Amino acid sequence: MLVYLDNSATTSTAPDVVAAMLPYFSEQMGNAQSVHSFGQRAKAALEKARRQVATLIGAAPTEIVFVSGGTEADNLAIRGIAEASGQRRGHIITTEIEHPAVLATARALEEQGVAVTYLPVSRGGLVDVAQVGRAIREDTDLVSIMHANNETGTIQPIEEIGKLLGEAHAAGHTRIYFHTDAVQSVGKLPVNIHSLGVDMLSMSAHKIHGPKGIGALYVRKGVRLGKILFGGHHERDRRPGTENIPAIVGFGTACELAGASLEARMSRIADLRDYLERELNDRIPGVRANGDPLARLPNISNLSFEGVDGESLLIALDLKGVAVSTGSACSSGSLEPSHVLTALGLSREQVRGSLRFSFSQYTTREEIDYVVQVIVEIVDRLREMAPDDDAAGVRNASAQS
Ligand code: PLP
Repeated sequence: MLVYLDNSATTSTAPDVVAAMLPYFSEQMGNAQSVHSFGQRAKAALEKARRQVATLIGAAPTEIVFVSGGTEADNLAIRGIAEASGQRRGHIITTEIEHPAVLATARALEEQGVAVTYLPVSRGGLVDVAQVGRAIREDTDLVSIMHANNETGTIQPIEEIGKLLGEAHAAGHTRIYFHTDAVQSVGKLPVNIHSLGVDMLSMSAHKIHGPKGIGALYVRKGVRLGKILFGGHHERDRRPGTENIPAIVGFGTACELAGASLEARMSRIADLRDYLERELNDRIPGVRANGDPLARLPNISNLSFEGVDGESLLIALDLKGVAVSTGSACSSGSLEPSHVLTALGLSREQVRGSLRFSFSQYTTREEIDYVVQVIVEIVDRLREMAPDDDAAGVRNASAQS
């Protein structure tokens, strides 16, 4: 049996999405900037997709900028604001648990003289709203805080932070722009830019059964972004380069599908996730869930297995046809311990023993039953083999339970 539980890394492209894309590789292959009929049909497809993407998050179509994915959306938001502020270096507030697309961009700007505050998070992975307020300085011009974390699924209080920034503005602070990376939350939660109170929001198609290499940045009307790429006048001068029409059409279709019966689909996924956690908890001692138990996405379960090396568990699962991920390798390809779980205060051993299971609408109960059965076997074997006292402790507890 092959079971794919790494949907936060990427999802399969939905058959309806592939079908919608196909004509745009062949008979409908025009450049959306061309004046002739081929170009006009491509342009019509581009604008239809823009409406589909905008509808999913409650934005106006003109506020959607198509980019190459979540990474570019994050770069455009953060560097775009820094570029627009010119000589005034400014100050950015972000968190320690952001995706590398945000963290590495912030670090690069720091080298150019921009000040950055990296806020810590609670044991559950939540940012403290009051702490955001205390971090605001006279020169703060951007707050970038992710909507849902890609390793734990923890959902940040974005609406409250949006309100806080609005209050700071009302009290006389110059406008502080608010960006959120919603790559993991779009299509998993109802996401509305008005209720979130954000000025910019990053999205990526391949996390919602769309194609890879396409995404969007929502930019609220009136927000002035500096340029990070130079070229033609595409995307209202906000992102040059010939539009990737097949991918954009796929992204638009994926957004439409993601919005349809979202809550019913997600509640089914949350049931499967809870089922996995319950079964593993009942059958294996020393399993703990990481992240906030309430403010969480329906499709991610991040679990630490005491006395087990996550990498060994991942490889053993792969041999049984089950694909999951460890925090360490998921986003950066590095073998450094997960910066997210470390920021939550987990010990090195707990981080090392963690795996992320991420579900999709195609995940079935039979698959979860199979995964539970193989994990029980593998963890037992790995603990038998582990030389250290920890594992022996867990084994003894296991023998008694
Ligand atoms: N932001 C988050 C939270 C992500 O999970 C990812 C993907 O892993 C990205 C940004 C980057 O998106 P993309 O793969 O489309 O560049």
